[in-house]
Amino acid sequence: MALPSGQDLKITEATLRAVVKTIFKAAGSNERECELLADHLVEANLKGHDSHGVGMIPAYITSLKANELTLNHAPRLVTDTGGALVLDGGNGLGQSIAHDAMVMGIERAKKTGSAIVALNNSHHIGRIGHWAEQCAREGLVSIHFVNVIAEPVVAPFGGKVPKLVTNPISIGIPRRDAPPVIVDFATSKLAHGKIRVAYNKGVKVPDGTLLDAEGRPTNDPAAMFEAPTGAILPFGEHKGWTLAFACEALAGALTGGQAMKGPATKKSIINNMLSIIVSPEALGTQANYLSELESFVHWAQLPSEGQSPTVLLPGDPERATKAERLDHGIPVDRNTWLQIVAAGQSVGVSDAELNAYIG
Ligand code: NAD
Repeated sequence: MALPSGQDLKITEATLRAVVKTIFKAAGSNERECELLADHLVEANLKGHDSHGVGMIPAYITSLKANELTLNHAPRLVTDTGGALVLDGGNGLGQSIAHDAMVMGIERAKKTGSAIVALNNSHHIGRIGHWAEQCAREGLVSIHFVNVIAEPVVAPFGGKVPKLVTNPISIGIPRRDAPPVIVDFATSKLAHGKIRVAYNKGVKVPDGTLLDAEGRPTNDPAAMFEAPTGAILPFGEHKGWTLAFACEALAGALTGGQAMKGPATKKSIINNMLSIIVSPEALGTQANYLSELESFVHWAQLPSEGQSPTVLLPGDPERATKAERLDHGIPVDRNTWLQIVAAGQSVGVSDAELNAYIG
């Protein structure tokens, strides 16, 4: 049972980064891995995706304790066709495995114009937009399909029983003289972690998000955290399900990883990701790409009668949240904080040391 909700803690970016590094240093991560993990988790919080921020620490420590997460691991090159790299993540910490996989894909795309990176068997790689942003910083367009091997929580369209996880998709679209457009979402109505955050805060989820164990609609996030558990629905009716299916095929099967085929047999959260990385410069379409993109953005955002609020681009809400949280701190609910402290204690960091961070 979650504790009654109180006011959220407000923690600065620097403090949260220090908390992540303290816990993972004690767990055994080297300096580089601690940095990559802190960058990733705290950036997810800053961008408003608390589902993929520091609240994931307890799940990662659970995997570690079960010997299902390997720290300080690098992806292993399995196949190199020139245009495509197949990489085995070997249950490594996803935030460093996917980072290294993207470095290899970016290098190849810059050399040959495009690259396919088929990453299999990585531990949870977090917020997928992070990888699209890494490519966009190098001027590269990228598309990422991801599947998840964990306890099934999402029902297919037309079904009532969970058969898959929240299979996310991300697309990174760099722009001329403007931050990149980042499309990044789960193919379920809500990311599972957002239901965890609602449960920890003691608030309801929107209509049409969940079914209870009997297959009846419910707004209670406990349906996913207290037995007998129910299911999350796909977004967009049949359309979300078709994209979720594509993630199983492209990320789960094609990468050399696994697709869902039954209840979880392990505690870990494994991600497989198929990334397609394209260099507009190498294609010779850079000038057209950049100017057509800006024309479309201008047209899409042209104010029109009755159009309020202003049309946003994918990635804009995250940037606005980041600006606000850099100024005012990152909200962390008390249950999530208690879970982080318990995870820290389990690897030898005292609650006094962790609570000292928040004063
Ligand atoms: P979401 O529903 O918040 O959608 C986010 C996307 O919609 C972003 O691209 C955002 O910029 C865009 N957006 C939101 N409001 C907008 C508006 N008004 N106008 C234009 N664009 C708008 O995302 P989600 O489904 O809750 O996913 C949250 C995170 O969870 C993502 O980062 C995803 O990668 C991650 N995730 C990871 C896994 C995993 O296994 N690693 C699984 C599921 C989800």
